[in-house]
Amino acid sequence: MTPGILTTCAACAVPIPYTAPRCSKCHTRYCGQACQTQHWNTGGHNRPLCKRIKRAGGAEKFHANQKYDEAVAEAVEKCAFHGALVAQATGYVPEGATCYICTEAVVQRTGEGLVNGFCACGDRDGVDAGAMGVAHVSCLVRQAEVAMDDEMSRSWASTQDRFRLWESCRLCGKRYHGDVQRAMGWACWRAHLSKQPADHFVRRAAMDMLAGSLAENGFHQEALDIYGASLAIVNHHNPSLLTDRPAISFDLAQSCMALQTNIANTLMLLGRQDEAISRHRRVLAGKEFMFREDGMRGVFTPIVAQTCAEDKLISILNLCTALIEREPTSGAMLREARSLLRANMADAQRVLGPNSKYHEYSFSWRGNYARSIFFDEDADEADLREAGEVADAAYEAARQTFGEDHPLTEKLEGLVYDSEHSDSESTADGGAPPEPDADHDVARTMQDEINVDDARGRPEFN
Ligand SMILES: [Zn+2]
Ligand SMILES: [Zn+2]
Ligand SMILES: [Zn+2]
Ligand SMILES: [Zn+2]
Repeated sequence: MTPGILTTCAACAVPIPYTAPRCSKCHTRYCGQACQTQHWNTGGHNRPLCKRIKRAGGAEKFHANQKYDEAVAEAVEKCAFHGALVAQATGYVPEGATCYICTEAVVQRTGEGLVNGFCACGDRDGVDAGAMGVAHVSCLVRQAEVAMDDEMSRSWASTQDRFRLWESCRLCGKRYHGDVQRAMGWACWRAHLSKQPADHFVRRAAMDMLAGSLAENGFHQEALDIYGASLAIVNHHNPSLLTDRPAISFDLAQSCMALQTNIANTLMLLGRQDEAISRHRRVLAGKEFMFREDGMRGVFTPIVAQTCAEDKLISILNLCTALIEREPTSGAMLREARSLLRANMADAQRVLGPNSKYHEYSFSWRGNYARSIFFDEDADEADLREAGEVADAAYEAARQTFGEDHPLTEKLEGLVYDSEHSDSESTADGGAPPEPDADHDVARTMQDEINVDDARGRPEFN
């Protein structure tokens, strides 16, 4: 038995560990016998439902099916052409269009409708490309499943390559977004949840992908729960993580920290700012330990060294963003952010420069430095002048690098504007440079505080 993503009692909804007792037929989990009995007696879990869940492949799969169906229904509804041309975020499905995969309009067996506009297919350089990319979500799912099972790809492709079709469109190569992204996330998890326990890397990769697809679409609490389940898998397979001296590989440590970063960013979005900050601090401490210069010299190739240096700076930026955006503002935290950003400013410019895939973040770095001063009520004239200069220079550089209309340039411009039009009370939101994206990489962790595994050894109902 390995951890899944159903982490609450089916009857009373309290959080439970994956070792909690479960219905022997369908594997629905409960905090205890009392809840199971009560659920049964009050009709929450009767024989027909139990059979349906069992037939679907168990509680996890049944749940994933439901979530997938919901997301597909929402996607189809948004694309339905209701007889009026209304501007909308996604494309509508043009009249007479058919799925580019199965060439039908409606899936016969299920009645599923078409979707359009959840990648970049419908819009070719600003020109409406009509029916390009119109498909059934279930056909996209089948495509991804076939690619996963293909023996050829199995032999050479990495897990990440094999996961590509769950995340991005085969035609335009762009990542899905919105409801289709969410539906594909659930479908991916559903396809991997019953893998052998030995395949836990793939299982975790699917979980992390699902969590990312939820986080990117505003389902933060659900995403957080799934990241927590992902941590539970890591801990389950690496018991030494829960000791003082974890014996883990470099790769595992790195992916643990990526997972912790995702969790921290999600906590921030849920308003649990201080928890987010303390997690970011731990990640940064971990990276400082792992990537210290003397330890890195001679061990890593230049490319790996660059990645490690970028990683550390991104963690500093994540922590500082959280410190700066905390509400209510804390003078001490603003000054902590400021001194961290200042101490690493030169490194950031060098490492996050034009050759880095995080190039844009070097502008966020300077924008954040300016914000850490503008938001600080105790900042004096000289501080504010310095902040203004940093913001000006960053804006100018962004304008030249990315152009006038780039969102990053616009945000920095807002910051410059704010600094000129208010005194030390420049807490206007408009000036905020973009915060770093949550790092939704395939990832794994150090230690867990989310899933407290306190019920080990409790008997099953079997
Ligand atoms: Zn319960
Ligand atoms: Zn059951
Ligand atoms: Zn189709
Ligand atoms: Zn596409």
